[in-house]
Amino acid sequence: MSLLTPAAVGGPALAQERRLVTEIPGPRSRELAERRRGSVAGGVSTTMPVFAAAAGGGVVVDVDGNSLIDLGSGIAVTTVGNAAPRLVEAVSAQLAAFTHTCFMVTPYEGYVAVAERLNALTPGDHEKRTALFSSGAEAVENAIKIARAYTRKNAVVAFDHAYHGRTNLTMALTAKNQPYKSGFGPFAPEVYRAPLSYPYRDGLSGAAAAERAISAIEKQVGAENLAAIVIEPIQGEGGFIVPAEGFLPALVEWARANDVVFIADEVQSGIARTGAWYASDHEGIVPDLVTTAKGVAGGLPLSAVTGRAEIMDAAHAGGLGGTYGGNPLACAAALATLETIEQENLIERATAIGELVTGRLGALQQRDARVGEVRGRGAMIALELVDPATQEPDAALAKAVAGAAQSEGVIVLTCGTYGNVLRLLPPLSIPEELLAEGLDVLDRAFEVIK
Ligand SMILES: *Cc1c(COP(=O)(O)O)cnc(C)c1O
Repeated sequence: MSLLTPAAVGGPALAQERRLVTEIPGPRSRELAERRRGSVAGGVSTTMPVFAAAAGGGVVVDVDGNSLIDLGSGIAVTTVGNAAPRLVEAVSAQLAAFTHTCFMVTPYEGYVAVAERLNALTPGDHEKRTALFSSGAEAVENAIKIARAYTRKNAVVAFDHAYHGRTNLTMALTAKNQPYKSGFGPFAPEVYRAPLSYPYRDGLSGAAAAERAISAIEKQVGAENLAAIVIEPIQGEGGFIVPAEGFLPALVEWARANDVVFIADEVQSGIARTGAWYASDHEGIVPDLVTTAKGVAGGLPLSAVTGRAEIMDAAHAGGLGGTYGGNPLACAAALATLETIEQENLIERATAIGELVTGRLGALQQRDARVGEVRGRGAMIALELVDPATQEPDAALAKAVAGAAQSEGVIVLTCGTYGNVLRLLPPLSIPEELLAEGLDVLDRAFEVIK
């Protein structure tokens, strides 16, 4: 079996094709968009105004019958494919058995099994514990609660270009003002920002960038006040920035020497996405705490904090939890997701997808100087678009290319502090020909937009 031929992955038997039967959005989607305008809060925005009817493999089918190539996975969530067969089976069985008891009232095995699996899969072979929650932001907030309880210190350092969520504490950790923070303050106190390693823009080695960050932390915060450093090993919303080699290990080493908890926010980069269980694995780092969400449960709301037993157990009984945290349906989905990744060799497949996509985008970069950098790992690859003369970010181009690809039936997302990054996060269940066709459409968009 070729690693690029999905077997049992990838959900309902939908034709794996790009098929446009109406303009995008079609009449039925436009009708629903109108209803939405009268009913849904305006602060909730949408990348592409087509309403979904079904999805699986590498396609999303809309309510007008258009079949779109999915290069976004609902923001890195449907890694094993939409409605993947094992997941549907496991969640259906759980649905028929019971839907909720609250783990804090009467526990159930699924929660414990997910904790055991994450303890085994996260980096490092030390004794670990896991706590489950419902969203990525909630996992990050809890990681910080735990780090504060353990260190009995308050300050937290996050980095330039960081994205950690939309709750009050995670907004404070998030770097970008628009659209995430503007008008929503005041923000949680004792959050400080350090410079990241951004090789394309700072040209620094990992060691030099780490020295710069550590110096800023020591001068502006002080290790004696610092509970935790929180960082995405590969930044997601910030632009798929891969730090220079050696940056993360140097930060981990400094944190360990200074009684500072090192938290890897792997909400976007974790669970096979980058061609490893966690992006930290590529750097050989062992974080004290790891947050997991997005790809772990195929779209059912589940998140986790996993880490060193002595740190995780520092919070008093009753201090962690939540009504829905580790919901039994979400746990069944997570166990089925992890099994699917193993049974279908999806880690290897993420690597193979990365090679294919990087090759194609590298060729595009050769032809088109507006592609400043192609970067990422595995099935988490981005293009940073710039003015070829000045290397200044070109957000208008990213928007135009994404828009052109979308109107040709390919779901592409943008990201980046400057809005000038196109990011590709295909489901690992996408057939190779469909992925190649999606990239053809993207190529053509660059040719059309001059
Ligand atoms: C998406 C994301 C979050 C927030 O997750 P939600 O489930 O949207 O709350 C946190 N950190 C990173 C790195 C993310 O990509």
